Amino acid sequence: MHNYKHVLVAVDFSATADEVLNKAMEIASRNQARLSMLHVVEYMPPIDSAYEPILASSWNIDEKLLLEQAEKSLQKFADKYQLSDAAQHVVLGTPKYEISQFVKDHHCDLVVLGSHGQHGISLLLGSTANAVLHDMPCDILAVKVSK
Ligand code: AMP
Repeated sequence: MHNYKHVLVAVDFSATADEVLNKAMEIASRNQARLSMLHVVEYMPPIDSAYEPILASSWNIDEKLLLEQAEKSLQKFADKYQLSDAAQHVVLGTPKYEISQFVKDHHCDLVVLGSHGQHGISLLLGSTANAVLHDMPCDILAVKVSK
């Protein structure tokens, strides 16, 4: 069996996140691997300049504040499981891109994520798990979540 050295768990804070984290912790412990936690803050700044005048007034979201709040949530989640050794990362973007990018940048050899989470519609259209399959340089474990 493969000995994993660096396991990444993708945390979305949905009702299924505990189940996904438990599985990642179990595998990391069995392999004596490093465990990293990643949460992606799904906030997209306006990209089409044609809409800029409208969006500029309504999209005055403080990115720094969003990241800080997400960092606190991730810390709380890690504390719940006494995960003082796990590295915690929060980034802004789209989960499917950011998870793949993180794996490449940090040389993870296993990604653990839920088979589905909070993107209800993506169950039909292809969830994050489905999307990352196409661009992942390492093994992926999609935990069949029960909720
Ligand atoms: P979904 O795309 O909602 O079906 O989510 C499937 C799985 O992708 C979740 O169980 C998480 O493991 C991961 N995931 C989804 N959204 C995020 C996010 N914003 N940050 C980190 N992981 C995520």
